[in-house]
Amino acid sequence: LAKENGKNNYQFFTKELDEKNAQKMKMERELHKALERGQFHLHYQPQFDLQSGHMLGVEALIRWEHPELGMVSPADFIPLAEETGLIIPIGKWVLQTACRQNKKWQEAGFPAIRVSVNVSVRQFTQPTFVNTVKEVLEQTGLSPEWLDLELTESMILEGECSHSVLQKLKDLNIHVSMDDFGTGYSSLSSLRHFSINRLKIDQTFVKTLDDTNKAIVAMIITLAKSLKMDVLAEGIETMEQAAFLKEMNCQEVQGYFFAKPMPMEKMNVFFKRPLVAFP
Ligand code: C2E
Ligand code: MG
Ligand code: MG
Ligand code: MG
Repeated sequence: LAKENGKNNYQFFTKELDEKNAQKMKMERELHKALERGQFHLHYQPQFDLQSGHMLGVEALIRWEHPELGMVSPADFIPLAEETGLIIPIGKWVLQTACRQNKKWQEAGFPAIRVSVNVSVRQFTQPTFVNTVKEVLEQTGLSPEWLDLELTESMILEGECSHSVLQKLKDLNIHVSMDDFGTGYSSLSSLRHFSINRLKIDQTFVKTLDDTNKAIVAMIITLAKSLKMDVLAEGIETMEQAAFLKEMNCQEVQGYFFAKPMPMEKMNVFFKRPLVAFP
């Protein structure tokens, strides 16, 4: 009987695996066609100065709307895009679309803000990366100071070449943020050797503000200040979290409590200043 069960479990397991694989292969096939079919669009999530309530920037977040699969989360397809190399054309499309949109806002007379674009390790380590960014800025006419590239700890610290890439971005006057800070494995002292403008405190620390996480958040804010970097806390969902960050003198914030990611058409109202009455 036990043997029978074992066999059934095994069959069940392989069947599940097969389905998972088939699903992944379908997603991969569809991902190849998504760009030319115009299935991607960007949502924008505002980033605010916590003291003044002014919107300082927006993060561009990719969305994939597939006719059958529905809305596919970037958490599901970005890793696949990285694996297959499709992140190169997709990432370039994100960069172009975000820069073009920001330029349009400026031309419409809105106060200038920065647009943050997430960059994958696969993009960052391409020898042509800096040139691609430069080209996109030239094509769209966006001044480099209004572009922020969000990198992660691991991609910056792993590569040999990352130093010179970061220096080139700095020379171009492009803003650089370290995303999801605190979840990677950077040695804190190595941070000062890199040309990073801003630390983004990972949302897991803000989510549950127990004593440990409060201490970590406070430490990152102090670290950023002493290294003369800006600091932004992301994933703020409640008034309590916002109030704590204000008390800690965190400069910048981003999260559902202030504004969710939204399509470009809904952004106009957020340019009014100051926007939100903060705690
Ligand atoms: P991320 O760069 O850390 O982006 C923040 C994520 O947190 C976004 O999820 C955003 O919608 C979500 N978020 C914002 N505020 C809150 C909040 O208050 N509470 C909670 N629970 N979540 C909040 P999203 O849009 O699903 O993106 C997930 C990840 O996918 C991003 O994490 C980023 O790593 C990646 N990603 C998104 N767009 C792109 C892209 O264009 N290129 C690349 N390479 N990666 C992207
Ligand atoms: Mg990000
Ligand atoms: Mg993040
Ligand atoms: Mg993240």
